[in-house]
Amino acid sequence: MAEPIHSCDAAIVGAGPVGLFAVFEFGMLGMNTHVVDTLEMAGGQCTALYPEKPIFDIPACPRIAALDLVERLVEQAAPFEPVYHLGQQVVALQPSADGAGWRLETSKGTVIEARVVVIAAGAGAFGPNRPPLPGIEEYEGRSVHYMVLRRVDFADKRVVVAGGGDSAVDWAISLADIAAQVSVVHRRGKFRAAPESVRRLHELAEQGRIDLVVPYQLHGLEGRDGALDAVVVADLDGRTRRLEADVLLPFYGLAMSLGPIAGWGLGLERNHISIDRQTCMTSVDGIFAIGDIATYPGKLKLILTGFAEAASAAHAAYPVVFKGRELHFEYSTTKGIPGAR
Ligand SMILES: Cc1cc2nc3c(=O)[nH]c(=O)nc-3n(C[C@H](O)[C@H](O)[C@H](O)COP(=O)(O)OP(=O)(O)OC[C@H]3O[C@@H](n4cnc5c(N)ncnc54)[C@H](O)[C@@H]3O)c2cc1C
Repeated sequence: MAEPIHSCDAAIVGAGPVGLFAVFEFGMLGMNTHVVDTLEMAGGQCTALYPEKPIFDIPACPRIAALDLVERLVEQAAPFEPVYHLGQQVVALQPSADGAGWRLETSKGTVIEARVVVIAAGAGAFGPNRPPLPGIEEYEGRSVHYMVLRRVDFADKRVVVAGGGDSAVDWAISLADIAAQVSVVHRRGKFRAAPESVRRLHELAEQGRIDLVVPYQLHGLEGRDGALDAVVVADLDGRTRRLEADVLLPFYGLAMSLGPIAGWGLGLERNHISIDRQTCMTSVDGIFAIGDIATYPGKLKLILTGFAEAASAAHAAYPVVFKGRELHFEYSTTKGIPGAR
């Protein structure tokens, strides 16, 4: 049986923090939303890359773990009853047959028709940079992980962290508390992480709680049926060393690609969507872009910037969705939200 066609005022591509806040902003102006995300969970980079890390620059939250921020955004959006389509990628976007809006199609065959589209796709179709190790696919998801959702999953495990940036250093420090053993493999002696984190890493190494394996790079994996026994590393002269391990966490950054978005006819600038800063409209009427994926001179890739863009986009989308209706600006304190007294 054919899938039903969903229809809504605004279709939001991406359920990262900015897409979630767009649900709220569009909802406040009376527009209902459907939200699609490739990932199985809402939260974008916050959930996928640093769920337990504290964020310090969200206004009025002096310190909030990334996953807690996402939970609060989902709660804040809930009164507006968004419909989430998770675990599916928007693969096609084209004008709707009646010419009144847009038709989106996902990788699972879901079809959504919307008056406007809000692209909050962050780093686009982002995926980890994989180390070129033969047979690594066999271990992925079981012993090789490119993200850490819950550190408790690594309790009492022998963990090899690979990489020299913030993620590698921060996770090595964090897991040193609970893992049976943590080794950090980096091809240079110098780490590219925040100075305070690097200082802490060396402190833990001196205390024998982290083994710094430098300058080495990943060379091979040993194990069977997806269960790792050891990670083999090689120095710059090709001499190998075997690190017994249950888990390998390679943190070599994200490969960013716009994925299908690149083919939607929008004005692009270096893998980002160019927008008009005042309205957040792209080069195509009725399609907006906000958050990390949107660019304009002076753009700051911060969550709070994306939140402000969500508000701008909602106000600019209103006359497109409700043709001819005038928008009377009101504060949330005046308007309230559904169900609140
Ligand atoms: C380690 C780290 C620490 C950070 N710390 C801070 C900080 O302290 N403060 C701060 O302000 N920012 C911080 N950031 C940056 C912040 O996370 C981003 O600015 C923010 O996540 C951008 O939100 P977004 O919603 O625009 O995009 P994202 O969070 O990237 O979410 C976009 C979502 O869109 C989905 N998507 C993409 N293409 C499609 C498609 N075709 N179909 C369906 N779904 C799609 C993706 O799967 C993703 O879930 C940090 C980032 C990292 C990596």
